[in-house]
Amino acid sequence: MARLRFKVKVTGIVQGVGFRPFIYRTAVQHRLTGYVKNRGDAGVEILLEGKEQAIQHFLGELREKKPPLAQIYDIITSKLEGKSQYRSFTVEKSSNETELSGSVIPPDVAICDDCLRELRNPEDPRFDYFFITCTNCGPRFTIIEKLPYDRENTTMRKFPMCGFCLKEYKDPLNRRFHAQTVACPKCGPRVYLTTATGEIIPHKDPVREAGRLLSEGKILAIKGYGGFHVAASTTKEKPLTKLREVKHRSQKPFAIMARSLNAIRTFAEISKREERFLTSYARPIVLLNKTIDYYLSNLVAPELHNIGVMLPYTGLHYMLFDKVDDSSFVMTSANPPNQPIVRDNNEALKTMGNTVDYFLFHDRQIAHRCDDSVVRTHGEHTAFIRRSRGYAPAPLLLKEIAKQCTLALGGELNNTACILNRDKAFISQHIGDVENIETRDFLDTAAKHLIALTNSKIDTIVCDMHPKFNTTALAHELAEENSWQLQQVQHHHAHITALMEEHGVNEIVGICCDGYGYGLDGEAWGGEILLCSKEQTGFKRLAHLEKQPLVGGDLATRYPLRVAAGILCAATGVEELLLENKQYFPHEDMEIEIILQQLKNRKVITETTSCGRVLDAVSAVLGVCYERTYEGEPSMKLESTALKGKDILNLKPLVKNNVLQTTPLLQEIFENRNKYTKRDLAYSAHVYLANGLAQLAIQQAEDNNVKTVGFSGGVACNEILARNIRKNVEAVNIHFLMHGTIPPGDGGLSFGQAVASGFFKL
Ligand SMILES: [Zn+2]
Ligand SMILES: [Zn+2]
Ligand SMILES: [Zn+2]
Repeated sequence: MARLRFKVKVTGIVQGVGFRPFIYRTAVQHRLTGYVKNRGDAGVEILLEGKEQAIQHFLGELREKKPPLAQIYDIITSKLEGKSQYRSFTVEKSSNETELSGSVIPPDVAICDDCLRELRNPEDPRFDYFFITCTNCGPRFTIIEKLPYDRENTTMRKFPMCGFCLKEYKDPLNRRFHAQTVACPKCGPRVYLTTATGEIIPHKDPVREAGRLLSEGKILAIKGYGGFHVAASTTKEKPLTKLREVKHRSQKPFAIMARSLNAIRTFAEISKREERFLTSYARPIVLLNKTIDYYLSNLVAPELHNIGVMLPYTGLHYMLFDKVDDSSFVMTSANPPNQPIVRDNNEALKTMGNTVDYFLFHDRQIAHRCDDSVVRTHGEHTAFIRRSRGYAPAPLLLKEIAKQCTLALGGELNNTACILNRDKAFISQHIGDVENIETRDFLDTAAKHLIALTNSKIDTIVCDMHPKFNTTALAHELAEENSWQLQQVQHHHAHITALMEEHGVNEIVGICCDGYGYGLDGEAWGGEILLCSKEQTGFKRLAHLEKQPLVGGDLATRYPLRVAAGILCAATGVEELLLENKQYFPHEDMEIEIILQQLKNRKVITETTSCGRVLDAVSAVLGVCYERTYEGEPSMKLESTALKGKDILNLKPLVKNNVLQTTPLLQEIFENRNKYTKRDLAYSAHVYLANGLAQLAIQQAEDNNVKTVGFSGGVACNEILARNIRKNVEAVNIHFLMHGTIPPGDGGLSFGQAVASGFFKL
């Protein structure tokens, strides 16, 4: 029988996942000759020579038996003319060809079970090796500088393989055949402990020594895959108090890393769904409810019902716990205020030298920063607070092909960038709050890296409508520089289009609640009911929350009593409320006098329809939170307070001209604040808002003959609101949607902007 020749190009996540070894073994098994090689566009090229049936079998197994981390998007086969040229099958040197797009390298992957077993096996040459990895696990996104994914294009370049590693690397039957991160104690990155000023402390087991120091009450900065963590004990007050002082984080919860699932169960509850997230190869931080006998220090996650927990994801993390009894350590990302996560050793010494007692460094460079991901489950549903390590840059697969190739830069807080390329959306790692030059540069670099990794030819750039956002300015600059078309998408429109595209719906009445978004009229929006349709241009704002004054603008966001004063200005006793809590106003009596004066003279005050600000005001009136020291603090603490409460007030939502009134809610809370428990009043406030928002949306869905209602925006991470809105909407048989894979908050904004530009009429 004649031998046929085929060229096969595969796109997807096919580099850095053991794909070439798999192709090699499959081809050899079917007695095919030819080659496999990585391409510069993150795809893989295969040349096959052999009998027709063997080639057919090969192509079948390509999809069915692919390595666990691989994702195939497309297989393009073309028949070649001519005679066989190859006598065997080989893994060829990578090429720089870049004609295809849509492929990308995988996210960082947590240590696999095989590597963990070897780490623990005294007979294994990689016994106790903190950075043990294979083709199925290890860093990818954080070490790659350019495509194709070969060792010389990664920060592993500095570590030439020893004879043993090279032998495994070249052995087609070995799990480390062509594993670019392969290393051992002889040839790989080294780990070392230093003092706070960087002097090396000689120790034969620095990782376990670091664990011992943590357990003893010391603070350490630990270098990981995508940046530094600051680590400390979860039960000792002293290091935690110091950490809060020097980091100027009086209240913001610290994420922790626990040694095992069983260890977590001693202080937090884990559902089946949460367990799947905790143990998945992405290993995100999962927000778990504290148990009744929660025993970790209250300084870890003050006044919240939940705590962010992750499991170890490198050998180093596992080893930290070996010589201690601690169930967990604080592992919070190390970043100076409003700066990206710390990445370089020198930068770490400079910025953290006076925070920590010791550093646990390794000598591999981090090519790209990547913060830990954070997820929360609402029963059967998932809310991504932050989609970063373990997820970025893997794309979301869409059902249609975009009109153009788009780069979206997001908003301002909790930002990400997103590239829409044909039927895929690639969301960057978490960038942070783009309020200064450092985060702006990080966004710029991350976006450019993503363009290179996805081989995208951008023709449109999208940003928010806010004229003063740094991201808007950056979008203008990049548009000019590259001759890209520039588009701007309204903030809440972007949130709702993100929700629509995630679920593939063409028309929706969207409830969009968050802290702040620049409205079409230039005002501050944040409690909106929008009608969005793919058939119509733009969107319609159908209803919203009552406009409330923000006395002092941004100051009101920081000190929520100002919002409460603004809403309650007509009620008697407001002055007393303020005076009772005057210690929460930096300038006490004088400040309160000015606030009351400004309220009388309403003209100078900006107004907002923000749902976040209403929750903040309730939080302040109930004495749950008077100062916002981190984003979302007053409303997060209010939710924690409301958790076991009941609807004691039973308020009927008051709607006037499609505007849900929030003044009566605040008045009721204020008047009853000494009559009922905080818990019940906090819960009642949630129910009022949920019922009111649902009522507005249902009314609009019926009036406009729309079959779907959705809920998006940062406030959608609030479980009590989400659950109650869902209950209302589903009770009248309207389809209800929330996000599952895209963050409801501003981390999902860039995705919404990109899809609005690619699929909607703007
Ligand atoms: Zn492995
Ligand atoms: Zn080695
Ligand atoms: Zn938002």
